[in-house]
Amino acid sequence: MVEEACDVVVIGGGPAGAVAGALLAAGGVDVIVAEQKTFPRQKVCGEFLSPGAFPVLTRMGVLGEVLDRAGPEITELAMYPSVGLKIRARLPSDGAGRFARGVGRHHLDTILLDRARRLGARVLSPCHVRKVVGESRDGFVVHTDQCGVIESKLIVFANGLPPATSKAAQRSKLMRQMVGFKAYFEGCELDDHTIGLYGCRGIYGGLQRTGDAAGTRRYNLAFVARRAVMEHLGGADALLSRLRQSNHALDRALAKARRIDRWYAWGPLQPGMRRLFDDGKFYVGNAAGEVQPLVGEGLTLAIRSGALAADTICLGLRGGMSAAEIAARYEVLWREDFSGRHYWGNWFATMMTHPVAGLVGSILGQIRPVAQWGVGVSGKPFSPGTTVGKSSSRIIKGGAQS
Ligand SMILES: Cc1cc2nc3c(=O)[nH]c(=O)nc-3n(C[C@H](O)[C@H](O)[C@H](O)COP(=O)(O)OP(=O)(O)OC[C@H]3O[C@@H](n4cnc5c(N)ncnc54)[C@H](O)[C@@H]3O)c2cc1C
Repeated sequence: MVEEACDVVVIGGGPAGAVAGALLAAGGVDVIVAEQKTFPRQKVCGEFLSPGAFPVLTRMGVLGEVLDRAGPEITELAMYPSVGLKIRARLPSDGAGRFARGVGRHHLDTILLDRARRLGARVLSPCHVRKVVGESRDGFVVHTDQCGVIESKLIVFANGLPPATSKAAQRSKLMRQMVGFKAYFEGCELDDHTIGLYGCRGIYGGLQRTGDAAGTRRYNLAFVARRAVMEHLGGADALLSRLRQSNHALDRALAKARRIDRWYAWGPLQPGMRRLFDDGKFYVGNAAGEVQPLVGEGLTLAIRSGALAADTICLGLRGGMSAAEIAARYEVLWREDFSGRHYWGNWFATMMTHPVAGLVGSILGQIRPVAQWGVGVSGKPFSPGTTVGKSSSRIIKGGAQS
């Protein structure tokens, strides 16, 4: 029995899905967002929100609310590879002089999903999507656990996972061998405006101030480890001990620190580019491609790709384009904006965890312009106004306005 019908079902209400749902609704599209969890909820993430996401958050009318919940501006990057020298670089601001911030995912994701609701998206939560059947010609039928069956013309996958059948999911050995962890700490020895990145063989992580809670100066420590290393050493505490033993900069930063929350774990991590479209099904955020956590661009990629998909679909539906025509446009713009971050993210992850790559990279990184170039290619361009890629600004101007 069909309980709901709409133009577009968005599967997943994380940053990518919430933004897609919000901007589709703002553009006059009848959209349902199905999210399996009840918000607020925690999520394994370093919570570094780069200014590349700010234009979309501004457009959604939530940037102020997000920044109110965030930690101090993060203006400096300090990298300590497994072997080699410390690399320092200045992080870019957006055109308005705003820098990256740490913001708890329980706050960020809730603000975005609430905004989607207020802009007219029908948010079903908790609502786990079990399967999607059909094709673009006749429409799709979405089967859920809690909310019955939904009919729609198009689907946006924002579930944070690769399609089960994708080559990337089947083949990537590296990815299946990585697991992520996060916990909050207090009492860390780290400058408020610096993000520290620390590596050793098989593990890398980041430490930074994030939004505070009840007067506590909270730091987010998130790291990823190869599964083989985890199986050898044990859980999060053992992995962190190994990282501290091997990386003295992190050991110093945590010398007087205290963990103030439980560990959260997530895996397997599956960095890499995936499918963007498949017969009426669009993929956004991590479902379209997962960038190495090290570069701190996953949230921005999720937010911007959600906006890009929404704008492309709005324009396409208004202009009577076919699903394939809408997809072709989405794909070109996505690749223009996001491909480079994937490539260089993998390179930097290797540099953090592999001794030879770390040594070579850290020597090169002593040359200031090289370090700044590295920050740029990871997705953080410097010149004012370029934090929104050419493609996104083009399509956002032509797309739905909230
Ligand atoms: C250790 C680690 C550190 C990181 N650090 C950073 C960082 O500092 N900065 C940064 O920018 N990025 C970071 N990232 C990456 C970032 O967390 C992701 O890129 C981001 O969460 C992707 O957003 P998304 O909306 O695509 O997916 P998600 O955030 O995963 O959201 C997907 C949503 O879909 C829902 N869902 C899934 N399946 C279903 C279903 N069948 N039915 C209904 N709902 C469903 C889930 O409950 C979830 O809410 C990090 C990642 C890791 C693992």
